[in-house]
Amino acid sequence: MFIERMSSWTKGTWFHGVKFVQDTKNKGKIAFGIMAALLLVSGTAAGGYVYQSNVNTLYHISLDGKEIGSIENPDAVRKWLGDRLAAEKKKYPDLALGFNKEISITEKQHYNGKGTRQEDVLNKLASAVQVEANAAQLVVDGQVIAYARDQKTINQTLTSLKASYNEKKATQNLTAGAGNVSPEQAKQMESDLSEVSIKENIQIREGKILPEQVLKEPQLMNRMKKGVTIVSKHETVETLAIPYRVNVKPDPTKYRGDDKTIVQGKNGSKQVVYELVKENGKLVQKNAVHQKILQQPVTKVMIRGTKVKPSRGDGQFRMPSAGILSSPFGKRWGRIHAGIDLATPIGTPVHTSDHGRVTFVGIKRGYGKCMIVDHGNGYQSLYGHLDGFVAKKGDIVAKGEVIAKSGNTGRSTGPHLHFEIHKDGEPINPMLFLR
Ligand SMILES: [Zn+2]
Repeated sequence: MFIERMSSWTKGTWFHGVKFVQDTKNKGKIAFGIMAALLLVSGTAAGGYVYQSNVNTLYHISLDGKEIGSIENPDAVRKWLGDRLAAEKKKYPDLALGFNKEISITEKQHYNGKGTRQEDVLNKLASAVQVEANAAQLVVDGQVIAYARDQKTINQTLTSLKASYNEKKATQNLTAGAGNVSPEQAKQMESDLSEVSIKENIQIREGKILPEQVLKEPQLMNRMKKGVTIVSKHETVETLAIPYRVNVKPDPTKYRGDDKTIVQGKNGSKQVVYELVKENGKLVQKNAVHQKILQQPVTKVMIRGTKVKPSRGDGQFRMPSAGILSSPFGKRWGRIHAGIDLATPIGTPVHTSDHGRVTFVGIKRGYGKCMIVDHGNGYQSLYGHLDGFVAKKGDIVAKGEVIAKSGNTGRSTGPHLHFEIHKDGEPINPMLFLR
């Protein structure tokens, strides 16, 4: 603001001011308006004229009401102000410019008044007065983050920022980020309409600032991208599998690990509508809002053995296989036959003779494919000339469990199962124990 006035008095004489107002809104031109000019002569102060010849005029220059000096001729000050404004106007033709301080020039009459040096007044002006723009502030959560020419510029830039987070772009971001979106799903998303809003509290206010601080649209947009969070929401539809349930029926008559499926499970499918919430295009929330079952899953039903297998034998051995005793324990062809032979066709199930743990699965010289079960009570049993193995080394096997198939491997004269029982490492006659 720039005010020029004349409102002073001499003894008995009132001058009511001439007020010059510079209108900052009027394109920066200095408009001088004569507000009033009135001369009153007081009837009781006729003596005032006596000193008329000693009266001189000084122009008092004030910034925001604080005087910085008084000079005899204000033209230099007026010129300085005018030039200063014109120079900025030339640089920033589309901004509304004004001074940062209220500058007033007040004419006063003095008796032998002494003024300030004009140069000092101009120096003081130069250090304190700046041209500033009447701009618009973008206030985000109470903090000014940018200045623009006007409110309309800010509003338009906000609108185009929001528009940049349209559906298509958001979908591309999701596709790139999530990695598990099928092209069909991405297409589906594109067709949905999103709802875009700003997370922060936004205010647009009038504000004064140096002209060079006023941002043009591209810089304003960049500043907004850093200071404003665009929240976009839209819906998407996905088809998902419904995993089947498993219904386990315990069976105490069967050993643990002995599972049998009686109904095969089958996954179902459902269509789920999700609300996706994104901030600046980045997915921050995914909420299921609706779902439709397309196909119900089929529950898998299985029977599970719960009986604990004893790893220790009870000493009551059973026959390891069906078959005819073809060779007994004892002396044979001048050698000790350490077990018994049971003539069986190749592939006949071989059962463990008592509870225990499988300690050997492999080939043994003379025995061919061979398996040894340790019964944990000082007894071991050995099964030879096998065709194949069912149990693995380390398995706990219950009495009667199928552990192998009989065969004709190793030093054998025909398909049969060779069976030994050892007590404390010494072979004994199985026939004494078998039941
Ligand atoms: Zn034998």
